[in-house]
Amino acid sequence: MPIPLQSGWLYGPIDSRRYGRSLGVNPLPLDRKLCSLDCLYCQYGFTRAQEVVGRAEVPAAAELAAAFDREFARLAAAGDRPDRITVAGNGEPTLHPDFLEISRELVAARDRHFPGAEIGILSNSMHLNREDVVTALNECYDEPAMKLEWGSAECFAAMNQVSPRGYERVLAGLERLRSFVVQALFMRAPKADNATEAEIAGWLDNLRRLRPRIRWVELYSLDRPPAAEARAERLPPEELEEIAERVRRLGLEARRF
Ligand code: SF4
Repeated sequence: MPIPLQSGWLYGPIDSRRYGRSLGVNPLPLDRKLCSLDCLYCQYGFTRAQEVVGRAEVPAAAELAAAFDREFARLAAAGDRPDRITVAGNGEPTLHPDFLEISRELVAARDRHFPGAEIGILSNSMHLNREDVVTALNECYDEPAMKLEWGSAECFAAMNQVSPRGYERVLAGLERLRSFVVQALFMRAPKADNATEAEIAGWLDNLRRLRPRIRWVELYSLDRPPAAEARAERLPPEELEEIAERVRRLGLEARRF
């Protein structure tokens, strides 16, 4: 069963296995997933891949900025200091049309209430053709965690249920980031399998191409059950470890979750 959507613009803090005490930021609608991909394994289940049509669809930047200040002040007063603030939420956060503005507001609120806390983001890497997104990721985020888990356009299209044309756009976009963390989920399903030898070899070529920008590579498999119709299966830990070993042989740090 997919998990429910986040019901607020801020959620947590929770103790995260990846990030310590982590406060979540959701700059997206509260009543549906809004994402430009429709991954077979999505924890929120299937929806048609969508883009933002108008600002009325998402919370206004000024409202989000006020919520950052209000909630950060409340947490600071309670002595609940996050190690990290992670922008993610109900889909793809960079889809917000005012992504740069809200990122700068978040940095300012962090500096006022939790100086030293890192700011991260989980992104699907699909919107690096937008100048404001590239500027925001390079300027405001300590460790942008960017999705990169395919070795071919065909696998990209099948796993994410979108056109294969986005694949080269993702690779070219990642070349515009100063540095980033790779997030790669491996799984098998009747419709797509990104753990075949051909896919892994292609993915390692992509890592080679982007190596100077990669801080480290995070590998994981299914954590929460996706939509049952996807019939997606978890990769055994020993297979994930073999892939991690191949990443290390490229001279990159691999972290397995
Ligand atoms: S990118 Fe993330 S939110 Fe979007 S469909 Fe894929 S797993 Fe779900």
